[in-house]
Amino acid sequence: MAVNLLDFDLEGLTAFCSTLGEKRFRAVQLFRWIHQRGVADFDTMSDLAKSLRAKLASSAVVQGLPLISEHVSADGTIKWLFDVGQGNAVETVYIPEADRGTLCVSSQAGCAVGCRFCSTGHQGFSRNLGTGEITAQLWFAEHRLRARNAAAAGIGPVPRQIDNVVMMGMGEPLQNYNALVPALRTMLDDHGYGLSRRRVTVSTSGVVPMIDRLREDCPVALAVSLHAPDDALRDNLVPLNRKYPIDELLQACSRYLEKAPRDFITFEYCMLDGVNDSPEHARALLRLLQGRVACKLNLIPFNPFPASGLKRSPRERVQAFAQVLQDAGIVTTVRKTRGDDIDAACGQLAGEVQDRTQVQDRMARLRQVIPIAATAAGPLPSVAGSPP
Ligand code: SAH
Ligand code: SF4
Repeated sequence: MAVNLLDFDLEGLTAFCSTLGEKRFRAVQLFRWIHQRGVADFDTMSDLAKSLRAKLASSAVVQGLPLISEHVSADGTIKWLFDVGQGNAVETVYIPEADRGTLCVSSQAGCAVGCRFCSTGHQGFSRNLGTGEITAQLWFAEHRLRARNAAAAGIGPVPRQIDNVVMMGMGEPLQNYNALVPALRTMLDDHGYGLSRRRVTVSTSGVVPMIDRLREDCPVALAVSLHAPDDALRDNLVPLNRKYPIDELLQACSRYLEKAPRDFITFEYCMLDGVNDSPEHARALLRLLQGRVACKLNLIPFNPFPASGLKRSPRERVQAFAQVLQDAGIVTTVRKTRGDDIDAACGQLAGEVQDRTQVQDRMARLRQVIPIAATAAGPLPSVAGSPP
């Protein structure tokens, strides 16, 4: 079977090329064609020898994920739904801001952690994505945005579109560690996407041993989903806390900071009405964090979905909560909810896995609503339903 070159970081591609009798600089050229130019067709790679192109054509492919749909929010957020086989789909979200573009990437189909307030968690776990399936999300999004913007502006090549990647889509990235790390390396590689370590963020519900491994193998920015100031409440909201309680988690955060590209950890805290959002919770959180771990706090307004039975905290309660922490000197921001009109907000991703019996029907229906011209193999022309 043909090897998918999206499965490799540059080191892996170099090893693969050596099995074809090719030197490292050929792997670099190939890597640049794939990731910097978005090219999947070996024949287009004009500075590779014909003989190498022939060898590649017979042994390898550059295979993206089949695109099911593309939804564009009123605020410019774009959500792509990709088919990962056997009735599973994952989502990738592009969030444009004035000075940068952020891509929210999935690491698993479903998630085994099962947080109370998370739609992905409610679906259960289907499977890990492979490195190529993680990398393909960035490969597709970057080159699709470039193609679209080049067409819109009527000009030639356009500059990089995605400056930040956050592993905050579906799944727990640190429960898919072996596939994650090569994908991160491709994001960081100067011959790949050249993203700064500070601008690639792994978000985790707190898989302590893997936080330690990430620190050694590929230290990028770290966000930790805390959501509660004590173990009793966190056990309930984030079941993984029973295995790795808060104290162990905070110790791992301190160790991570020794090698992290940023000098703080971001703690995420989803604001749930009447559950974890009182001034007393804020003070408890302050006692927990102050002087212990250099951190910033990001309060996320809960994005409701019917099965959760939970509600979003009122805006004033979120403000009061933030104030307690800010007054004590902890930088606290409230995340702006983006793309909620297309269910692209945090924790709302890919209800498509939920009901396995109907998922094929739903995908067929989606395909009818938004016809997709091609698979993700290479930059696409604009798709019906997307803006110019
Ligand atoms: N599994 C990782 C990364 C994916 S979730 C993690 O849990 O960190 C990304 C972020 O979205 C996490 O902080 C998560 O707690 C938050 N989130 C999940 N469901 C949400 C919801 N319904 N509303 C708001 N934020 C949510
Ligand atoms: Fe999994 Fe993160 Fe959702 Fe928890 S919040 S269920 S860890 S994806």
